[in-house]
Amino acid sequence: MTNPDTTDDRTDKTTKGAIFASCGHKIYDISSGVDIRIREWDCDAISGFRRSVTYAHYCQPCADMLGANGDLIETDEQEDDWLSGQGTDDEQA
Ligand SMILES: [Zn+2]
Repeated sequence: MTNPDTTDDRTDKTTKGAIFASCGHKIYDISSGVDIRIREWDCDAISGFRRSVTYAHYCQPCADMLGANGDLIETDEQEDDWLSGQGTDDEQA
């Protein structure tokens, strides 16, 4: 899947007029990206691993890829379930 507003080359260092989405891809219009929430794990030396949520603005192809992997949170209820330990997690299950 390609998005005409997105370069596929993250090594493109031309920054004039560029907007870099959270995924690292360059987009040319902030509305061509999408706001997403991602299921994540965080950790520190005291609490160890714990569930977290990352809010980000991704290009559409990267958001689609995360969605296909089941890593996106689409509703507040899914976010609550994830953070309370009830959400899907393929790595830690
Ligand atoms: Zn991207």
